[in-house]
Amino acid sequence: MLAHPEVAERLDLAWFGVKRDDLLPALHGGSKVRKLDFLLAAPPWSTAPGWAAAGAMGSGQLAALAAAAELLGKTLHAHVAWQTPTGHAIENLAFLATRAHITDHGSRVRMALRHPALLRGGSVKGFPVVPPGASAGPGLLGPVEAGLELATQVARGECPLPDEIVLPFGSGGTAVGLAVGLRRAGLPTVVRGVACVERPLAAAWRVRSLLDELGETDASLRIEHGHVGDGYGVPSAAADTAVATLVSQGINAEPVYGGKAMAALLASPPRGKRVLFWHTARRGPLPVDPRWRERLPASLQRRLDGGRGRRALLAGGLAVAAIVAIRTSGYPDRGFTGAVLAGWEAEVVRALGEAVATVDHDPAEAVATVDHFLTGLSPMARAEVHGLLALVEHGLGVQRFTSLAPAARRDALARLAALGSLPAVASRGARDLGLLGAYAQPGTWAALGYEGPIVGRGRPDAYAALCAAPGVAP
Ligand SMILES: *Cc1c(COP(=O)(O)O)cnc(C)c1O
Repeated sequence: MLAHPEVAERLDLAWFGVKRDDLLPALHGGSKVRKLDFLLAAPPWSTAPGWAAAGAMGSGQLAALAAAAELLGKTLHAHVAWQTPTGHAIENLAFLATRAHITDHGSRVRMALRHPALLRGGSVKGFPVVPPGASAGPGLLGPVEAGLELATQVARGECPLPDEIVLPFGSGGTAVGLAVGLRRAGLPTVVRGVACVERPLAAAWRVRSLLDELGETDASLRIEHGHVGDGYGVPSAAADTAVATLVSQGINAEPVYGGKAMAALLASPPRGKRVLFWHTARRGPLPVDPRWRERLPASLQRRLDGGRGRRALLAGGLAVAAIVAIRTSGYPDRGFTGAVLAGWEAEVVRALGEAVATVDHDPAEAVATVDHFLTGLSPMARAEVHGLLALVEHGLGVQRFTSLAPAARRDALARLAALGSLPAVASRGARDLGLLGAYAQPGTWAALGYEGPIVGRGRPDAYAALCAAPGVAP
């Protein structure tokens, strides 16, 4: 822990210091080590000869797991999806290439279809799956211990009691675990978790589910939005400036997490307060074998080489079509012809409506509403909806979603939501499609206390009441 008085003075803070998780000795350092330290020591990971894990191809989590596998003599089966190849991502991928068995799935949706267990938990080809961000189960204990560690440092006088701790919020395990640890140690410090992922992934429900897993109902944690810029992993000018500020203090920062968290502090420093910046990044560049590209699956090499990327994407699309084609038989023929939805997809939408809407509605009309709604989406968004429906139908359990009773379907969606991260967003998306079809029907409005639209549905009095009298100035 180091104090940085120049930064404190510049930002008008009573004190500014940095908690240096980059100096943690194992695995090139970084806060992820704290989580893996507990997770990988617990069964089934501790007893298995290797692990399966999913992520973007340049994920820091996969790189840290590869380092852990090397240290512990395990094999890492990394299932990767494509991401924009920024310098940071390439560095992680290059490290991963010579230390893991990489399976390239192209997109996250395809990965989920092929191996639902990567999202759901369990095992893939006999290897236990490491949960996303290791922010689950025993992995959450590492950040809790970090909170207790800080309390000890405060008690020893190594650092003043901070009013506020600023750190990045990704899968949320680090921020939430730390807040819980501080609370258990009796420190009143507020944790300011700066979202480095899109808003739906860093929402209140995510915090609640992590707290729940730790057996807590509350913690002094504030999630701050507005600094993710164009998205997770995409650099921003503010983050670059913040990285430069940290580098000027001798701290090797990165723009994906720490840069965005520090940008939040630079944008609104709590004047007169004692602030601790929790530095979560690893120590520095990872050792990379110069021939790493040769170790990549051919599909990744091709796409990294560019040019032929288009064809690779097309082939990927055909692969998805093949997976789905063999799974689309055995549905009732209701004579549905949609603009966007295939017959089996209409059955999934119908099943979603029956599961999530609590009022009687006409399922055929619900399906038609959703189909019409989808015509207004971009081709990319529509492709995601097709993937989502396939995931719901085939990826949530052994049985097809449509063959479950409505209560069992609700349970399946709840289990998906409880996984947090992208699976939780998928669960909400599926729920919303079900709700959309059912509650667009006038017959369901009374149950919602909604009187219907004012214009055009026989409520002329209500419309007249909204009109300004002639001659009234706006
Ligand atoms: C993964 C990572 C985080 C995010 O931690 P979460 O527990 O997923 O919120 C923050 N900083 C760095 C440098 C990371 O690699």
